[in-house]
Amino acid sequence: MVGTIETQVAVVGSGPAGLTLASLLHKRGVACVVIDKFDREQLLARARAGFLERRTVQLLDRLGVSKRLRTEGLPHTACEFRCDGEIVRLDYTDLCGDTPSFVYPQQEVVADLLDGYESAGGSALLGRPVVELGTERGLPVVRCADGTVVRAEVVVEAAGQYGPVRAALPAGAFTEYDVRHGVRLLGVLAQTPPFAPHTIYGQHTDGFAGQMLRSPDVTRLYLEVADDEGLADWPEERIWRELDGRLALSPGTLRRGPVLERSLVEMRTWVVEPMHLGRVALVGDAAHIVPPSGGKGMNLAMADAADLAAALGRHFRDGAIGDVGEVLAAYSRRRLADVWQVQEFSHFMLHLQHGPRPGTPDAGYVEALRRARLFRLRDDPAYARAFLERYMGPELAPELASDI
Ligand SMILES: Cc1cc2nc3c(=O)[nH]c(=O)nc-3n(C[C@H](O)[C@H](O)[C@H](O)COP(=O)(O)OP(=O)(O)OC[C@H]3O[C@@H](n4cnc5c(N)ncnc54)[C@H](O)[C@@H]3O)c2cc1C
Repeated sequence: MVGTIETQVAVVGSGPAGLTLASLLHKRGVACVVIDKFDREQLLARARAGFLERRTVQLLDRLGVSKRLRTEGLPHTACEFRCDGEIVRLDYTDLCGDTPSFVYPQQEVVADLLDGYESAGGSALLGRPVVELGTERGLPVVRCADGTVVRAEVVVEAAGQYGPVRAALPAGAFTEYDVRHGVRLLGVLAQTPPFAPHTIYGQHTDGFAGQMLRSPDVTRLYLEVADDEGLADWPEERIWRELDGRLALSPGTLRRGPVLERSLVEMRTWVVEPMHLGRVALVGDAAHIVPPSGGKGMNLAMADAADLAAALGRHFRDGAIGDVGEVLAAYSRRRLADVWQVQEFSHFMLHLQHGPRPGTPDAGYVEALRRARLFRLRDDPAYARAFLERYMGPELAPELASDI
């Protein structure tokens, strides 16, 4: 369908943030369209995150799309730090109660959201890159590469850091924080069961190595790599040898399997303030990137969407009383408070997992502090409990849950 569409909210990007927002708006009776450059097959092939905080699980429950997650997902009950033969294992079963965090692959979250949204009659324009943001009679308009035009009262960019909407707005309207942490990881998705039923963060003299759960037969593994290394430097044989050396408790015991995907990830923090301008709002990776060390990016993206959907739902349901710019400004203020809390936690996790590069100033001192934090997690239950609360994330706020 190519033509002109009139709606209340145009959502650009149908990743976890865009689909959560569109699903919640549709449920609340707000007219919306979600647009993505990828077709369904491409969307469902994007394997990225896998850790779902408690509030994310509860949000999917409220949306009625958590059936597969609750049957096929893995309850996430422990994490383990390894450092020079010392193991610090944190078990949070006691904290979880009946609301555990889960491991469930991002592409499955997207599949469930998309199915739920479309089967409820929601409109998704897939395989249609948005190329332009314009204005007509004071209202925003987005144009797609195929000529489709969407006129809306509010446009939401959920298209990641390099989306087309913010790129069309004056750069001076935003403050950007962009920090490179000097750590590069090789991320590997492998067709093999996890070798332990929980997350493992391994500190080794050759660099960090980690195991994150994804499903009973697929595991995400990480290796810290040098600045000048590319994918070509990491053939499968070397990947498994290094993983074995850095992670296995007894060398040669790691179960190998075909490598499904390899990518290089730079540990980076990026935040845009504010998360709105005029009738445009930013959600998820379009407004902030967290280093994946804390497993928070997808959760933060969906938490933005839940907050914005509640605010826009109230705005449109109450007959558009009040200025929509004020609604978006209040959204931005609320979310930035949470975004910075999550950035702080992810920064803490990053420096708990990665020691200083040898030879950097004060390397010995920084490493001693890292170990002090790690051993306090082992020895101080109150400290460990506070840590695990943040690791699992908060519960879904009642005001966001109540009218879904
Ligand atoms: C290797 C890796 C591991 C990760 N692990 C975790 C983890 O364990 N836990 C966690 O919470 N987070 C993790 N993250 C981060 C998480 O994947 C992201 O934070 C999450 O995808 C953000 O969701 P989003 O909806 O904001 O953006 P995205 O998922 O990036 O979705 C953006 C969508 O916009 C579309 N789009 C882009 N440009 C256009 C355009 N011009 N027109 C139309 N559509 C467009 C894209 O096709 C895409 O579908 C990880 C990320 C990586 C890379």
